[in-house]
Amino acid sequence: MLLNQKYEIYPNEKQKEMLDRWLQYCRQTYNSALLDKQRKYNRSNESYTRYDMQTQLKLDKKKYSFLKEVPSQPLQEVFLRLTKAFDNFFRKDAKYRKLKKYKDYNSMTFPQFCFNNKGNRYAMSFSQNGKLFNKKLGEIDIKLHRPLEGIMKQLIIKPQGEKWYAIFCVERQAVPRTMDSHNAVGIGVGLNKYAVLSNGMEYENPTFLREKEKQLKKAQRKLSKRKKGSVNYIKQVHRVLHLHEKVANQRRDFLHKLSYHLSKDYGVIVVEKLNIRNMVKNRKLSKSISDAGWGMFRNMLDYKCEKNGGALIKVEPHFTSQDCSSCGERVKKSLSIRTHICTKCGTVLDHDYNASVNILHKGLEQLLVMN
Ligand SMILES: [Zn+2]
Repeated sequence: MLLNQKYEIYPNEKQKEMLDRWLQYCRQTYNSALLDKQRKYNRSNESYTRYDMQTQLKLDKKKYSFLKEVPSQPLQEVFLRLTKAFDNFFRKDAKYRKLKKYKDYNSMTFPQFCFNNKGNRYAMSFSQNGKLFNKKLGEIDIKLHRPLEGIMKQLIIKPQGEKWYAIFCVERQAVPRTMDSHNAVGIGVGLNKYAVLSNGMEYENPTFLREKEKQLKKAQRKLSKRKKGSVNYIKQVHRVLHLHEKVANQRRDFLHKLSYHLSKDYGVIVVEKLNIRNMVKNRKLSKSISDAGWGMFRNMLDYKCEKNGGALIKVEPHFTSQDCSSCGERVKKSLSIRTHICTKCGTVLDHDYNASVNILHKGLEQLLVMN
């Protein structure tokens, strides 16, 4: 199984500038490859492959010497991202790729990582005194607050708010699965609660998180009233960024704790497959779901279940909120109706609870088919 381990790094001003520049070169390379791909397709209906992109990059490097400053690894990984994005688009589960603006391109990937700096000179490595090392950047301080375990697959460097992070993707041996279906639970997304379980348990968004989110909204409103470029504007930008990071960290923290407990308590956890694309159409719902970081939560559940020897099962979301969990009758109702009242058997249940029971049933059926 693949796991991400994230650590804060502390580049100095000069290193920050360089990293920032590299990010921009990666972004420009992404955008120009995207344009080339579109142009070729419009002209001749032919596809523009990763190989074509790499050939073009070689030519570009001769013309624009600044591109030579970026290590070739993250620069070439850009094409992998673009190709993946198009593959997803053709599988119809993503939007058409658009040009990336400054704020949208915020990470670079080193597909290889060496444990000592005698390795690949274009890659990142650890220096002898345990710092992150790249030939052009030099040594960067890193805080290894927990051990880095597993086989290194790749390294992502990413700024977030005003901090920088190194995310190591490692492969680890998983605990063998037991699939204890007697200890199974279905989890539904609550509209007001964070999560509703098929055994009746409910989890709320923590109050401190809601309060911080309110503060953030207020700070963003204040920012929109400030004159762009003024001293107060810049001060407010920093405040917004700071709050933004706080909210993101607190949310992640909450989700880590919740997913940890759930994965420890239950052998099998069932959730719905999510079609993000459909959800974005429903703006109100999409807001509440994206705010709650549901996708992130499911990813955490996924690897934590695996780590603890349990299983996460994903089921199709069709009719889970419509069907009666007690007799199976389909009771059509809109999302705004928060109570399930069965016209056939008379069962009255909370909408989210009814859905979570249906999710559990679907998951157990799927488990039977699998075994
Ligand atoms: Zn019923």
